[in-house]
Amino acid sequence: MLLLDVLYRELVDTFEKIEKTSKRLEITDYLSNLFKKIPSDIIDKVVYLIKGGLHPDYLGIELGIAEKLTIKSISAATSIPEEDILKKWQEIGDLGTVTEILISNQTKEEESKKNSYSIKKPLTIEAVYMVLGHIAKLSGTGSQKAKIQILSYLLQYAEPVEAKYIIKTVTGKLRLGVGDMLIIDALSIAFAKKTDRNVIERAYNIYPDLGMIAKVLAKEGLDGVLSIKITPGIPIRPMLAERLYNIKEILEKIPLSAVENKYDGIRMQCHIKDDIIKLFSRRLEDITDQFPDIRMDLKESKIRDAIFEGECVAFNQNTGEILPFQEISHRRGRKQGIIQAIEDYPVCLFLFDCLYKDGEDLTVKSYLERRKILESVIKPFDKIDISNYEIIDNIKDFEKFFDRALEIGCEGIIAKSPDSKYMAGARGWNWIKYKREYKSELVDTVDLVAVGAFSGRGRRAGTYGALLMAAYNPDKDCFETVCKLGTGFDDDTLMRLPAKFEEYRLKEIDKSVESRIDADYWFVPSVVMEILGAEITLSPIHTCGLGSIKDDFGLAIRFPRFTGRWRDDKNPFDATTTPEIIEMYKLQLKRFK
Ligand code: AMP
Repeated sequence: MLLLDVLYRELVDTFEKIEKTSKRLEITDYLSNLFKKIPSDIIDKVVYLIKGGLHPDYLGIELGIAEKLTIKSISAATSIPEEDILKKWQEIGDLGTVTEILISNQTKEEESKKNSYSIKKPLTIEAVYMVLGHIAKLSGTGSQKAKIQILSYLLQYAEPVEAKYIIKTVTGKLRLGVGDMLIIDALSIAFAKKTDRNVIERAYNIYPDLGMIAKVLAKEGLDGVLSIKITPGIPIRPMLAERLYNIKEILEKIPLSAVENKYDGIRMQCHIKDDIIKLFSRRLEDITDQFPDIRMDLKESKIRDAIFEGECVAFNQNTGEILPFQEISHRRGRKQGIIQAIEDYPVCLFLFDCLYKDGEDLTVKSYLERRKILESVIKPFDKIDISNYEIIDNIKDFEKFFDRALEIGCEGIIAKSPDSKYMAGARGWNWIKYKREYKSELVDTVDLVAVGAFSGRGRRAGTYGALLMAAYNPDKDCFETVCKLGTGFDDDTLMRLPAKFEEYRLKEIDKSVESRIDADYWFVPSVVMEILGAEITLSPIHTCGLGSIKDDFGLAIRFPRFTGRWRDDKNPFDATTTPEIIEMYKLQLKRFK
């Protein structure tokens, strides 16, 4: 088959089928069937388009044309006045659907009159990808106008249903509810044996570019995927920690623990290849430009081929004190005033791991071997240091280490298994966190996703009275509600909630949310917030861990309070998970027995 022959309609038909179901297995089936049909040369593009973009996420290239601008393109393509489109948009809520309806009406009415429709050639995947890529690349003066023109031209060639998905894609609103794990399932069904899924997942964990992986798999089979290696410049999915609430239990899990300070800052993965240095966040975003001071230090280190990981904290250089997270949050997401921010909010990067060095994948080596290498190559610089660790086998020394960690401004400790490999992308018992809050009566903070909201009354009229919060269930790939959150907001934050969530508003509950509660507003699960709770209880109305402890009961967090910390560094899939909440409930039962 010629590449140019693969019609965009083929992809759009799959989108339509996916939109009509919430059953994971059905979606997997639709995708694996599509993958089998698509020529391997363009399967990478198909994967990116399914994910709503054109490139792997870590490149951070957004198509993002504002919806209001898109209206100009739709107007130019259909000759319908912008005000009419705007009105219809307000009525229907989804601009993609509006475009589909408008083009469909117009096609019917004017087909005979308008020549452009009669000479219209069907759109191919290649053509749509190329045009969208062109739009994404435009920048600078005059670029908005050019984007509108190119998009309107594309729309003139699109069938109504194709136009719907083009608009959803360019506005960043294609939300099929297809997570990366589901794409991996579909790829393994299409091109490998189900049992080989872990090979594909491992490749994804060390090289999170699903488009590239799909292409290698389709062209070279599993052997090709096995040859995908850790590569400086491509972020690695981070290893994550479990939690426990007392030291005795930690030592039972890891009798000889390598105990490190748990710094409260921003996780940073540092990639060095010759003169090129890249810094990635926990969400794998490229944050290099926000930390030129760290980049400079790494450059001076004379290391030429390595990947390190550490936690970057705000730091008082005079006292050596580690400052609270709020301080370093001033350095994140900044596009302007970076030089001033370096002065106002100095930082220190505490490196705790070395994942790759001089062509060698170190993730397969033990913790102690990796630490040895880290210590041999990193000499403390102005802004870079190494996290300390101590091998501990008893409660007394553990407590001493913990208290010292708190004293210097850390939020707790992480106990690591000295023999463990670095498990990219996995949360496991080889790393266990133990935090300050665990010593108090309160449960730990949890990071929950806002999935809905309720209208405010009385003093809160005009804003939200509470948010509906959910945990992520990785087994079911969905978000399960766990509490209503109405406390911990200052007045200003409270009044600004509707504006903050505006871009995530949905007409109906998102497909990936499981709720027994009917919220007044629904959101795309996107925003992660840190919450402190008093207790976890069984709940007949919340769906978190439904039936796991008691039939027809879920779990709820009682008296939840927003700590004020928006976890912008976490995506919704990094939120506290249902198994973690279940574990916390069980531990709490043990503690209070
Ligand atoms: P949490 O975000 O509560 O799940 O805790 C895990 C996080 O602690 C990691 O993602 C790191 O950002 C951070 N962290 C701080 N210090 C360390 C350390 N010494 N080793 C590993 N992770 C650390």
